[in-house]
Amino acid sequence: MTDSIAEAMAKNHSFWQYKYGPYTANNPLPKGHYQADVVIVGAGFTGLTAAREVMRDSPGKRVMVLDANEVGFGASGRNGGFNMTLFGMEPETTVMRWGKKKAKEAQRYMQQAVAYVHNLIESENLNSDYEHTGMWRVAYTDNQAKRLKKTYALLSDIAKPNSYEFYDQSKVSEKLNAPQVKSAIYEPETGILDPCKHVRALKQLAEDAGADVFENTLVIDIRKSINGTFIKTNQALIKTKKLILATNAWSHTLTGPKKIQNRQRPAWTYQIVSEPLTDEEWKTLGWQDRMSIEDNRQFVHYLRVTTCGRITIGGGDIGYEYDKDMNRWHDPNIWQALEAHFRWLFPTLKRKKIDYQWGGAISVNFDMTPEIGFIGDNDIIYSTGCIGHGVSLTQLNGRLIADLVSGIGSDLSKFWIVNRNAVPVPPGNLLPYLGVKAVVGAFKGVDWYEERGKGET
Ligand SMILES: Cc1cc2nc3c(=O)[nH]c(=O)nc-3n(C[C@H](O)[C@H](O)[C@H](O)COP(=O)(O)OP(=O)(O)OC[C@H]3O[C@@H](n4cnc5c(N)ncnc54)[C@H](O)[C@@H]3O)c2cc1C
Repeated sequence: MTDSIAEAMAKNHSFWQYKYGPYTANNPLPKGHYQADVVIVGAGFTGLTAAREVMRDSPGKRVMVLDANEVGFGASGRNGGFNMTLFGMEPETTVMRWGKKKAKEAQRYMQQAVAYVHNLIESENLNSDYEHTGMWRVAYTDNQAKRLKKTYALLSDIAKPNSYEFYDQSKVSEKLNAPQVKSAIYEPETGILDPCKHVRALKQLAEDAGADVFENTLVIDIRKSINGTFIKTNQALIKTKKLILATNAWSHTLTGPKKIQNRQRPAWTYQIVSEPLTDEEWKTLGWQDRMSIEDNRQFVHYLRVTTCGRITIGGGDIGYEYDKDMNRWHDPNIWQALEAHFRWLFPTLKRKKIDYQWGGAISVNFDMTPEIGFIGDNDIIYSTGCIGHGVSLTQLNGRLIADLVSGIGSDLSKFWIVNRNAVPVPPGNLLPYLGVKAVVGAFKGVDWYEERGKGET
């Protein structure tokens, strides 16, 4: 039976999980001792794509995927569904930290990643509600509009030609009735999907390729010895030749190699979704192109239409935590702020009800750049630091990781985020917490400065 909204929210399910209805998870890994060629911890976009790609490369291999929850319980089943090219935090941050050459390579990788997802959905006919409708990045104030112009110039410089267009306010108003939007960057080669449908389709693809997926199977320890790598779950022990840690925002909670614990910390982002709009309301909004939208605040809002006729909006602020509880699924204050922003942005929807609210964790590291790395002698591969922009990235990362498993030295596996020089998170809880607090405070300061007098309640 389908859960009520209250029941689904109590289970920390996303709107997509709630809407998709009852789901029967695979059985947990039974008690016992096992041997595998590749074990993958984490059944989100990264883990499931890697599983499928490894199996396609080497059909005889034994690949086991383990997830502590059901497939897609992590970020992959609860995101905005933007199949987009943003790498790390912002193009400016990437250029500042890594230089223009690497920023160009990253942009190329992300454009390839978006195409990878789009092609996969088309070629496998996946039921992911995919719409390749492009994306806007918008400014609300003169200060933001000035910065947006600079971002447009930078993106046009680092991306392949004709990847972006700039819209002034009159062009914006032809395509969306949102008087607060001053200008926009339009990026046609991007899309939106239903993340829950998509991650479940990826599970099916991984299984069809021959991987075994075990859900509700918590990995409690990882040990490396001269005899191999051993993964302990709540009931079983597996010896494996290769281990892939696709645990994203949970990576610091893993027990075992110290290195994985200081790669990243979680940040929590929240979303709300409206009740369905009437035909008249859609007409008044004029959102006929169905593009997804992000603003260019430091703490971005992201919003989009759904196939069931609603608007979902997320972001605006983030949650973070002192300890390792991974339990900040709900934040009523941020949900309330999102609702206020929604009504400010679309004054014609002042009376629209919000039907559902949820949250999820993204993986953030201290240099705001995705990382794929090795532990020890390259037999353990990890992937962290999606910085909230991982729908396309993590799936191409899955293909890249398969190349690392087979050791073929492909173009993908030479991408500079592999084995890069990363800034580790300081040990313990206090220093990382204070570090995040300071960064959050600085970003909020920029948003406050750029939005003085904007008039949002
Ligand atoms: C609300 C929200 C909105 C977002 N919107 C967008 C967007 O629109 N576009 C975009 O590009 N990105 C977006 N993102 C980011 C994107 O969803 C992620 O980058 C991506 O899904 C990460 O995929 P993953 O497979 O690496 O990790 P996850 O999907 O997080 O999977 C990690 C898995 O590891 C499992 N796990 C953890 N610890 C253990 C353990 N000890 N044992 C076994 N299993 C374990 C978890 O249960 C989880 O299923 C958003 C994220 C959130 C939370």
